[in-house]
Formats: sequence, structure tokens, C-alpha cells
Amino acid sequence: MTSWLLTGIGELVTNDPTLGDGSPLGLLHDAALVVEAESVVWVGPRREAPAADESADVGGAAVLPGFVDSHTHLVFAGDRAEEFAARMAGEPYSAGGIASTVAATRAASDEELSANLARLVAEAARQGTTTLEVKSGYGLTVADEARSLAVAVQATSESTYLGAHVVPTEYADDPAGYVELVTGAMLDACAPHAKWVDVFCERGAFDADQARAVLLAGMGAGLLPRIHANQLGLGPGITVACEVGAAAADHCTFTTAEDRRNLTDAGVVATLLPGVEFSTRSPYPDARGFLEAGVTVALATDCNPGSCFTSSMPLCIALAVREMRMTPAEAVWAATAGGAAALRRDDIGRLSAGSRADLLVLGAPTYLHLAYRPGVPLVAATYRGGNRLA
Ligand SMILES: [Zn+2]
Repeated sequence: MTSWLLTGIGELVTNDPTLGDGSPLGLLHDAALVVEAESVVWVGPRREAPAADESADVGGAAVLPGFVDSHTHLVFAGDRAEEFAARMAGEPYSAGGIASTVAATRAASDEELSANLARLVAEAARQGTTTLEVKSGYGLTVADEARSLAVAVQATSESTYLGAHVVPTEYADDPAGYVELVTGAMLDACAPHAKWVDVFCERGAFDADQARAVLLAGMGAGLLPRIHANQLGLGPGITVACEVGAAAADHCTFTTAEDRRNLTDAGVVATLLPGVEFSTRSPYPDARGFLEAGVTVALATDCNPGSCFTSSMPLCIALAVREMRMTPAEAVWAATAGGAAALRRDDIGRLSAGSRADLLVLGAPTYLHLAYRPGVPLVAATYRGGNRLA
């Protein structure tokens, strides 16, 4: 078995608080790590590094766990640049714009959907992302949701059934009938291709009873629950997340102190998606309120053609620091270990013995530059399982 030594690491973010400086990031300086069979088998001071078959020296650069983007909608066709321009000119964002992407996605071939997904996954890899959760939700028929998930699993094992994204126009007069479809025939067709079930619990999308029904049906089919909650206003999404034991409640833009306490008590991760607030010119979630309440916070992109068309985790980190008053350390943890927690994974989002060798090399001496140098392409190399992705 070939072993591979990465050395000359000026600053290594391990996310293992038993290592290095003892902070949540577990920072090691002048460090090295050894990879074997897609896993990290050793981390420590450079001078103590064991011999390996091959080695590379990163010349004092910072090395971090690859970003874990735990919330994306990358199976779609078309683009909504005009809608974005209209929004910037003063029109508000509503859940209804999704319908135009649904029409384009239904009209696209499987090959077009796959090619668009592959292009976006590669774009994310160049920005340090090594794990992506990918949702369906622009098909909204049995066949189109099932093929969306069949496309998603080409790129990730973290595929999410989101038949309950919005009620499609053909069911506008019969939302109950659509929930029946989502919890029945559509679920049967989609469950074999999905790990997760999700629902957009929001005014204009699905209410608490419908959201609960969707998640419980998905769980009955062996899927794990997660939810779009409290994006456009206060609402029941977080309560439903806590009731069903969701891995994560995502958006959480409008929350009460009670919501935040409930997330802590239920052990539900709050996934904040500041690219959405940036791209819809909306108020940001209360990140400090979550952190002070002891909630586990993740950062993700929500990359989608409507409300936020960025695949950049470094942008989300910069926004979290600048606009949500997270420290750079909190934001980097949330974009790596926090994302892993939101996907209930303990093999990613950290770099220590036994983790996957999913990592990025920064063209900078410290992770602080991710927030300090916004908009700059700082990721010099991305590896997944020790193999170079970008
Ligand atoms: Zn979303």
C-alpha cells in the first residue's frame, strides 16, 4: 500500500481539539500528515513525521479539511439571472420563482442535467469543497424526481429527496393531493436513490402538518430527515425539525430564543446559508444567538439557480465573519466540522488519524485569510481521499 506524506504545513486545521493548541480547530504549526488508502493515518509535528513512499512539501501553506457543503440544489437546468437582476432592482424574493427552474429541468435531458451537475461540482472543488449534499426538487413529478436523484448519486452519496420543494402548478388547486404523491408513489420511486428526505416548510410552500407528514413518510422508507426552516419568516419549521429528530434545520434566518434553545436540546444542527441573504438582500440569521445558545452551527452555500447561485464556501465564510459576526475560527469550523455534523458524518470535516484524506491547501499561511481576503481564489489544491480533485 502506497503511503503519502504531506509536509511543510505552516498551519494545519485538524478540528481535533485534543491536538495542537487545544482550540476547537486543533491547530498544529510546522506540521505534516500521512495518507494511506484514502485515509489520514498520522498527523503531527513535521520533525516527527514517519517515512512514506511519496512526499510533497507545501512550503508553509495552511492545510484545512475539505469544505463540507451540506446544502445544495445542483440538479437543475436553466438560469434565473433576469430574476436576480429584477430582485436587485427592488422586487422581493418569493418561493414562486422555483417554477421556472422546474419547467427548464423537466425539459432537459438526463445528459444535460448530469453535465450541469458535474460542472458545478468541479467549480466547487476548485474552491475547496470535497463533500456536497445534493437535493432533487426541480422535477416534482414521480419520473423527474427519481431521475434527478439518479443524477445526484453520480456526484455524491449525500443525496436528498426534496419532492416537497414547492407544490407544482398542476397541483395548485390540490396541495393535499400533491403531499399524498410525495409521501406515496414519488417516495417509492425516489427512496432507492436517496439518503435524506427534506421539505421546504414555509408560507407559500408546506405548512407544519404537511412537513411533518413528508418527513415521517420518508423516515418510514429509511431516509433521514432534514428541513428548510424559518427562511422567510418566523414559523414552525424548527419545531418540526426538533420533533422528528432532524439532522439539521437549514436557513434559520428568523428564529426566537425558544427556537434556538430547542435546537440545542434536540441536538439539531443549524445550517446557516448567508449566501442566500447576500443574494436576496435580506437580513442575516442571528449566528451569535445560535452560538451563545450552544447550537451546533454549520455553514453551507444553498447553491441553486434562484436565491443563491454561488458554489463558494470561502465566500460563505467571509460573509459569516463580516455580516454575522462569527469569528474566522467559528466560520471555518462551521464550514468543515459543522457541515460534517449536519450530515452525521465523523469521517470528514476533520484531519486526524482515521479521517478521510479530504483536504485543501490554501495559498496562504493561515486560515484567517479566508475571511481577511474575500473574493480572492485562495485554494491552491483540493484532494479527496488523497487524490487531487482540483
Ligand atoms: Zn435550499
